[in-house]
Amino acid sequence: MENKKEKMKILLTIASVAAISIFFTAQLYRRRRKQRRPQSCCYLHSESKPQLSFKRVFADNSCSPFNHFNRQADSVNEKSSSLTHPYESEITTLMENPQLLFSKIAMDDFDAKMDDSYVWVETESQLSQLAQVLSEHRAFAVDTEQHSLRSFLGFTALIQISTEKEDYLVDAIALHDAIGILRPVFADPNICKVFHGADGDIVWLQRDFHIYVVNLFDTAKACEVLSKPQKSLAYLLETYCGVATNKLLQREDWRQRPLSEEMVQYARTDAHYLLYIANCLMAELKQQDCEYSSCPDDKFHFVLEASRRSNMICLQLYAKEVEDFPGASAAFSILSRQLNGQGSGPISGATKFQDLVRRLCAWRDLMARVHDESTRYILSDYAIVALSKKVPTTQADIYSTIIQADLNIDSSNFSSSLPSPSPLVCSHWIDVHQLIQDKLGNLDKFFPVVLQNCLGPNGSCPLSVFNYALLMNCSLKHETRLVSKQNGFKNPKQVAKKASRELFIQKFSCKSPVYHNCRIYANDGRLLCYCDHKKLEWYLHRDLAKLVDDEPPAIMLLFEPKGRPEDEDNDFYIQSKKNICVGCGEGNHYLRYRVIPSCYRIHFPEHLKSHRSHDIVLLCVDCHEVAHAAAEKYKKQIAGEFGIPLYVRKVIDLNQASIISGSSDSMNFEDSGVSPLQLRTAAKALLRHGPEMPPSRLEELTQIVMRYYGGREISKEDLERALVAGMSPHERRRLEKKKGLSLKQPMRILPVIEQESNNVTKIISTTSDPSKVDNPDVSDFTADVSQSTKVDTLKEALGTKDEMDFSMVTDADDTNNPITSSNFEVATTSTTAYDDMNSHSSEICENKSMCAVDANDNSERSTPNELVDSSCTRYDGNIPLKHNSKLSLLGHGPHGKQVVDRILNEYGEEGIRQFCQRWRQVFVEAVHPRFLPAGWDVMHRI
Ligand code: AMP
Ligand code: ZN
Ligand code: MN
Repeated sequence: MENKKEKMKILLTIASVAAISIFFTAQLYRRRRKQRRPQSCCYLHSESKPQLSFKRVFADNSCSPFNHFNRQADSVNEKSSSLTHPYESEITTLMENPQLLFSKIAMDDFDAKMDDSYVWVETESQLSQLAQVLSEHRAFAVDTEQHSLRSFLGFTALIQISTEKEDYLVDAIALHDAIGILRPVFADPNICKVFHGADGDIVWLQRDFHIYVVNLFDTAKACEVLSKPQKSLAYLLETYCGVATNKLLQREDWRQRPLSEEMVQYARTDAHYLLYIANCLMAELKQQDCEYSSCPDDKFHFVLEASRRSNMICLQLYAKEVEDFPGASAAFSILSRQLNGQGSGPISGATKFQDLVRRLCAWRDLMARVHDESTRYILSDYAIVALSKKVPTTQADIYSTIIQADLNIDSSNFSSSLPSPSPLVCSHWIDVHQLIQDKLGNLDKFFPVVLQNCLGPNGSCPLSVFNYALLMNCSLKHETRLVSKQNGFKNPKQVAKKASRELFIQKFSCKSPVYHNCRIYANDGRLLCYCDHKKLEWYLHRDLAKLVDDEPPAIMLLFEPKGRPEDEDNDFYIQSKKNICVGCGEGNHYLRYRVIPSCYRIHFPEHLKSHRSHDIVLLCVDCHEVAHAAAEKYKKQIAGEFGIPLYVRKVIDLNQASIISGSSDSMNFEDSGVSPLQLRTAAKALLRHGPEMPPSRLEELTQIVMRYYGGREISKEDLERALVAGMSPHERRRLEKKKGLSLKQPMRILPVIEQESNNVTKIISTTSDPSKVDNPDVSDFTADVSQSTKVDTLKEALGTKDEMDFSMVTDADDTNNPITSSNFEVATTSTTAYDDMNSHSSEICENKSMCAVDANDNSERSTPNELVDSSCTRYDGNIPLKHNSKLSLLGHGPHGKQVVDRILNEYGEEGIRQFCQRWRQVFVEAVHPRFLPAGWDVMHRI
């Protein structure tokens, strides 16, 4: 017995010693692992570059080939081929039959002097107006300015467009994702585009915007044909216009805003005189043709030749540079320069030197891709040579070697003004060190290691649309297995998933705290609610309140509010709210989630909508995904329960454009119906681009719209009506607003469909009255608009009377005006011509849309909350958006309105309250939220 006890004691002691040592070993191991991984040391974390706001990037920094726009592609399935020019046939036609119509402009009309006025284009609506203006011209002049220092591939920062009346400077950074609006005018063979030396511009426009120029007149080519002594723009400006220009300005940082006066002047000058010069050159070309026409032996046709050479440029296609290994060509040119004796000093151990040059060039190239920088910004060729010669061993040594090398650069050289060593080298000097010390292995081994250090799980550098595919493509193929094991990940898929999840968070999460926790007090000092800064300002601005506290700010109302929290028996609104995920408590990122889907909520009676802040909660992406999936599933359940499909089918009465829902006995509505989203997208594409569409696409889209109209033939009016199918008047108004169209300028509809209709399609125009074509059927449209505008104005005026109910003036309400706003999103028109033609997914991003670039499909877009079907996992890195019946759930069709109307009819407002409770229940059951603010309640009553 004693013995046994003794044994137990010993065993226990051993066990606990073992446990303790395991614990410590684990601690030690964990600490070591932490040390090995560089955390947040990259200089980019404290820098913001304008291109990070771009949502759609056609050319990323990976080595994958550039995808050109493919007109022939059957929308979703076919990948665009990079080998054919989408407008090849149009361009070759023009080469034989030039359309240089600008020559008809009377030269006297032309404003050859440049006055002070120009148009700065920085909003989408201004851009649409510009597109409209240009479409009415026979010719316009274009130039672009690029930024290339702080970008790997470079990007267009400014587009200068001049008509004979006006100079437009288009802010291509602010409008990066919208520039596609100009695609049709650039591709229109009937409009001549005048450039000077267009070689660069043509491919840059393809790279950044999928803009393809059809019908080009290049003044430099005209100079060639005319055998001018020079063909620079400076020469032409001097000779024809007597204008001097300082070409040094082309090297300015064109990202800067506002542009300096000098830069504006330079940019305008590059385009302003082009039309005039083109006219002069054209006259000379014609003159030559006349002179030579007398001698029939000479076949040289000047005008034709200038046009041919110009349009040859248009046929060029943008392509990314391909190298045997990253940095190969830079290494080659450095080494050949050294061999040619340009380098100074003897090189000892030549092969080691060459090897180091190649490695440093490869590393520089990879770092440039990861950080979206030019290679010259990262490390100069001189520094690479110096490092490879000297093989420094310490950090200080590395730095001083680089500084010395850069100091020796000719001071007239532009790059001498760059920081040396670059911030990148400073934050990643360990790489340089290890590379020089030969610790990173062979070239092909160190890529994945470096990449994983930068972008892999726990990598040090920010992930973006520019480098995301880099990680997906390069690293996963080769050494990832090894590396990911080191990082505790079992397989590359997990690594990829984690990486894309991070990208998703970066793109979609709220960029600043949602809850500002500003306070509003009643005039008796009682706390009424918490809210954001905007709302405080709203009251202060109108002298309805006075500021009573600064940090965080608080105001006291100067009038007696209608509602008090205690009246409502709910303390939810007088709680300060934490900026964390209500599901799991995650505080580093969060997105807004609408517990009650907008497609229903927007149709609630106004007074039942007021408590929106209760039903908008913050969720991290993981909880968001769970909640969203549950909501989509529940929507389907409701569709079944009410017998109201999530799809639209047909119209009984064209004048009312009312929509019948499928009857309750038919559950097979997916087959016969069409989603409102699909319908609107198809209609929009047909209206905008019908004439330019390939027949198969035209037919396909026509079928979609016809399905909606019960299979009958459709007219232009039908298309116009389909644009707003399933939208409430309010939604239409929002759409209009978004488009930036005022009441005076109704949506312009291209009256051109008839032309094409006689052959392939069933589209017929029923408008024989020409006045109707010019002034499309927008009367019911405008009526809606004025109606709602009036209501809103009225509300604003009477605001204090019936709307100043405190429960609605709270944080997390995502609208601007605290009084008249309502909680819904309308399809934005951030979609471009390309989107319209190319995908069914263009309107998926109904809300603040974002484009996440995907490794396999860089046009995938997704957006949080009820906008993307959750079964398409949004960030698993390999979900191409297929034409998918699930997509059809995404539009705000009539389903929501019909459900809400039914509830109101049958159960009244109490029904709506219960309906809200059901949604909250769905949310709670799906997410099991543990961090809901105090007072949040499934039963929450208004
Ligand atoms: P430009 O139309 O002549 O003003 O040139 C258009 C763009 O090309 C400029 O914004 C520059 O980004 C680039 N570029 C052209 N030539 C040079 C050069 N010699 N040095 C640097 N950048 C240039
Ligand atoms: Zn970095
Ligand atoms: Mn220029």
